[in-house]
Amino acid sequence: MAGQLEGKVAIITGAARGQGEAEARLFVAEGAKVVLTDLSAEGARLAEQLGDRAIFVEHDVSDGDAWDDVVRKGIAAFGRIDVLVNNAGIYVPRPVQDTDAALMDRHYRVNQLGVFLGMKAVVGAMTAAGGGSIVNISSQAGLSGHPGMVAYTSTKWAVRGMTKSAAADLASLKIRVNSVHPGVIDTPMLDGNSAETLASFAAAIPLGRFGTADEVASLVAFLASDAASYITGSEVGVTGGIGL
Ligand code: NDP
Repeated sequence: MAGQLEGKVAIITGAARGQGEAEARLFVAEGAKVVLTDLSAEGARLAEQLGDRAIFVEHDVSDGDAWDDVVRKGIAAFGRIDVLVNNAGIYVPRPVQDTDAALMDRHYRVNQLGVFLGMKAVVGAMTAAGGGSIVNISSQAGLSGHPGMVAYTSTKWAVRGMTKSAAADLASLKIRVNSVHPGVIDTPMLDGNSAETLASFAAAIPLGRFGTADEVASLVAFLASDAASYITGSEVGVTGGIGL
C-alpha cells in the first residue's frame, strides 16, 4: 500500500534529533523524499541512514540566504518542494525578572523569524508544484501562559498568529498552513528544566505521561498529507490533554 506521503518532497528543519528526527524517519517511511536541515552535522548521519530519499543541508533557520540555499538544493536533488515543517527551535527557561533583551532576541531569531523566513522561502517552489503544506511547530506555550517561559512563549504565540496570517495569504496559491502545539515531549529540549519543573509539568497532564516524538510526528505527517486537504489556518494540539 502507498504511504500517505508518496511522491511528496519535504523540508524538515531541526531534523538532527528529537521531533525533527522522528518526522524525518516517518516521512521517509510514508514515501516522502526529505531535505533535512539543522545547525548540527548529526543531521548528515541521519540522512545517510535514510538512504537516497534524504539529503542533509547545514542550515541556521535565522539566516535568510541559507534558506534560499536549502530550497535550491532540495529542488536540485528531488525536483520540487511540497511540504515544509518549521520544527527547529530553542527553549531557555527564565522568569521575566531574569530575562534580558539578548535572550528575547535569541528566541525571536530562531523560533519566530526562522519560521517566517522558511514560509517565505518556499512559496515560489510550492506555487510551481501546484500547492503545498506548511506545518509550523508552536507549543502548548503558544496557547496558554506558563512560568519561566516569557521569551519562549512570546515566539510560540507569534508562530500561531503568523500561521493564521500566512494561511490567509497563501490559500489562493493552494498552500495550506497549520500550527502544531505539542505539550511536554520527551526530547533533549526538556534537559533545560529542573527536576521540580518536570514534576510540575507531569502533574498537569491528564494522560499521565510525557508525549513521544513519534506521537507528534504522526500528527505532522497527517497535516502534510493530502488527507488534510481541507485543513488550513488551524492550531492542533498534541498534549495528552493539558489545559482541559
Ligand atoms: P530538540 O532540542 O531535541 O531539537 C531541536 C533541534 O533544533 C536541534 O537539533 C537543534 O540543533 C535545532 N536547532 C536549534 N537552533 C537552530 C537553528 N538556529 N537553525 C537550525 N536548527 C536549529 O527539541 P524538540 O525536538 O523537542 O523540539 C522541536 C520543536 O518542538 C521546537 O520548535 C520546540 O520548540 C517544539 N516543542 C517542543 C516541546 C518539548 O516538550 N520537547 C514542547 C512543545 C514544543 P542543535 O542541537 O545543533 O542546537
